[in-house]
Amino acid sequence: MDLPVEEWKSYILEKWALLPKSVQVTISKAETLSDIFLHSSSLLQPEDEMFLKRLSRGYLVGKDPNAPLFYREEGNKKFQEKDYTGATVLYSKGVSHSRPNTEDTSLCYANRSAALFHLGQYETCLEDIVRAQMHGYPERLQPKMMLRKAECLVLLGRLQEASQTISDLESSFAAKPTLAASQFQILQRTLCRLKMKIQKKENLTETVSAALTKAFEDMDLREENKQISSASASVSLCTDPFKGRYLIATKDILPGELLVKEDAFVSVLNPAEVLPLHLGLESKWDTRVTNGDLYCHRCLKRSLAPVPCDGCSYAKYCSQECMQQAWDLYHNIECSLGALLLTLGVFCHVALRSTLLARFEDAGEVTRKLCGDISNKDTRLPESKNLVQTLSYDLGGESEKNGKTVETPIPGCDINGKYENNYYAVCNLLPHTENHSAEYKFLCALSISALCRQLEAASPQALMTGLTSSKLKAAMAPVLCPESSIWGVAMLRHMLQLQCNAQAITAIQQTGSKENIITDSRQVRLATGIFPVVSLLNHSCSPNTSMSFVSTVATVRASQHIGKGQEILHCYGPHESRMGVAERQQKLRSQYFFDCTCPACQHGKHRTTAEPRWEAFCCCSCRALIQGDEVLSCGNASCTESVSRDHLVSRLQDLQQQVGIARKLLRNGKLERAIQQLLGCQHDAESFLSAEHSVVGEIEDDLAQAYAALGDWQKSAAHLQKSLRVVEVRHGPSSVEMGHELFKLAQIFFNGFAVPEALNTIRKAEKVLLVHYGPGNDEIQELQKMKSCLLDLPPIPGGPSL
Ligand SMILES: [Zn+2]
Ligand SMILES: [Zn+2]
Ligand SMILES: [Zn+2]
Ligand SMILES: [Zn+2]
Repeated sequence: MDLPVEEWKSYILEKWALLPKSVQVTISKAETLSDIFLHSSSLLQPEDEMFLKRLSRGYLVGKDPNAPLFYREEGNKKFQEKDYTGATVLYSKGVSHSRPNTEDTSLCYANRSAALFHLGQYETCLEDIVRAQMHGYPERLQPKMMLRKAECLVLLGRLQEASQTISDLESSFAAKPTLAASQFQILQRTLCRLKMKIQKKENLTETVSAALTKAFEDMDLREENKQISSASASVSLCTDPFKGRYLIATKDILPGELLVKEDAFVSVLNPAEVLPLHLGLESKWDTRVTNGDLYCHRCLKRSLAPVPCDGCSYAKYCSQECMQQAWDLYHNIECSLGALLLTLGVFCHVALRSTLLARFEDAGEVTRKLCGDISNKDTRLPESKNLVQTLSYDLGGESEKNGKTVETPIPGCDINGKYENNYYAVCNLLPHTENHSAEYKFLCALSISALCRQLEAASPQALMTGLTSSKLKAAMAPVLCPESSIWGVAMLRHMLQLQCNAQAITAIQQTGSKENIITDSRQVRLATGIFPVVSLLNHSCSPNTSMSFVSTVATVRASQHIGKGQEILHCYGPHESRMGVAERQQKLRSQYFFDCTCPACQHGKHRTTAEPRWEAFCCCSCRALIQGDEVLSCGNASCTESVSRDHLVSRLQDLQQQVGIARKLLRNGKLERAIQQLLGCQHDAESFLSAEHSVVGEIEDDLAQAYAALGDWQKSAAHLQKSLRVVEVRHGPSSVEMGHELFKLAQIFFNGFAVPEALNTIRKAEKVLLVHYGPGNDEIQELQKMKSCLLDLPPIPGGPSL
């Protein structure tokens, strides 16, 4: 998904293998990105471009005039089944294939408004009604939709508007009696009912404030850093030759303190499971729900009622404003390139969008000067670090009026030593040109140059505006490439930077079946972005921070106490609770080009036990842990049991298969059978897995879900507490995983009216989640509602006092 599709990748690698050795050497030995780009792109042949075009054709990104009817009918089916969310998504797909101002568009919006009404999303329903009318909703269907509008307004307490809508409706009946008598009677009755509702509501005193203002006091940085934008004053930027740039604590930091709150410089929604058509889909049109259907393509907010781009079917936005902004900033160029961008992958897309965004940055006096200075020098400047130093030197020299020795500021900082979230900082992220393999560089360079040629063909004008952007030119001038390839070299640089600097933007998605009251959550990857300030953080396999996202904004909080002078660290992915030392080391070396020396890795290397407890097996006769490589023997001195690893691994696989069957039963609401199946799994697991094995935890978790669905809160809580213990051993008592698990337990106690247990668990869950997310988080708000609800309960006669 990040890299180009497999077919293009292997095509290019084959092309590379067939190049004469001398050409390969020239490209491998090229020192500047400009040379790599120019050498590679001169090898891009028309037949290569044709091949890429053929691959792109597999993606349906344009508007297909036959699709709206198909999606509307599929949506109606879901609507009949009362799956209103499913219906909404299908109507949205219908809208995205409709041309503006057509009956197709208006019908899709109108149907979607009905589904939204059933979902209780009255505001959004009203928006869709307006949209349906804007695109020419047929007169004959108007009355039904106007009634829905009136009903929404009543439910939202907007009674005057509701009355107005109703009287408009009545007068239009009077003017045009086009309805059949029976229809008219139904309408009359509904109108009557609505009027009564309005009267009732008007009698209620207005005690409910329109919008519950949330306490967001902690959502902003307490004191902003003077040196680094988007960071708190509790951190400071340092640099040294070995670590590069990094952040340290300038004072003692408490768990939960907000350290960085940064909006992405650029982000691109991951198309996720979108598959090209030739991969054998049953229908020409895809009815599956992907992230692209649920999240705004610009701001990443979740939206059940997106508005699509007028020109394509793949870009969808939460609002007209987001659509307009995206169009002005980058989508006017990207719109026609959708299929190509899907083929070339997210990294290419991020690279393109970064350079498009650079056009809009304020190119100040300093950058213009800098650009002039460097372009006039007749020296060939080597890449990366030196580029950065040169840029920095010239910035410094400017203020000192030639001659005097200047202290080189930290790379990426401006003339005053300030580090900001801007294109200049993005350009200063290291592309690690010397670390990437020659094949990878060739693949990136050819993909980018194919993209450049398409751009030139599609919108030469855009390219010209891009080239006159002095910011882009200034940042790229040191590599001294010809005008026409500035754009390409800049994109190649970004593409190479992304392997180490891409940040996955994630969201917490609620999961769980419809009849299930306990909501579970899982983290999903939504987008890939660049965050220049977050990029300053170094990695640790046991970090002291926690990162979360709202829309495109990343927040980094201290997850534990950080002493003054300590480094602020976050985890690039290989976390000690998810991977063994060897696997982590391998991953960090191949993707990030460094050997991890964090305490977890140091400690792990000297440890003798092979597996952590959540992956350990136990002895079938005495239940002590068993250890060893090929053959594992019991750790209990008085026991002689031993068993081969292969045997245990295949038992584990069998067990996981059985758990899978149980989950399917659970999903289909066959609760009793699911429980039987799970109890069998639990019994089996006990005989060979450690009590803290992650699969044991999963089985307990599923049992808790099943009992909760049956309304047996006591059993549910008992099983969830066992699962909680496994999570605690693996992720630690104050981990975010623990927070989610405690949240579930709180819901169970709450639903079972176990008041003291519920309050106790709510407090624990709140404490853990606050550290990771701050008070704005949905789960925390939910916990607070539960708490106030419980505290309002009348005391149980004879029950324990709280
Ligand atoms: Zn948006
Ligand atoms: Zn578009
Ligand atoms: Zn490590
Ligand atoms: Zn034993």
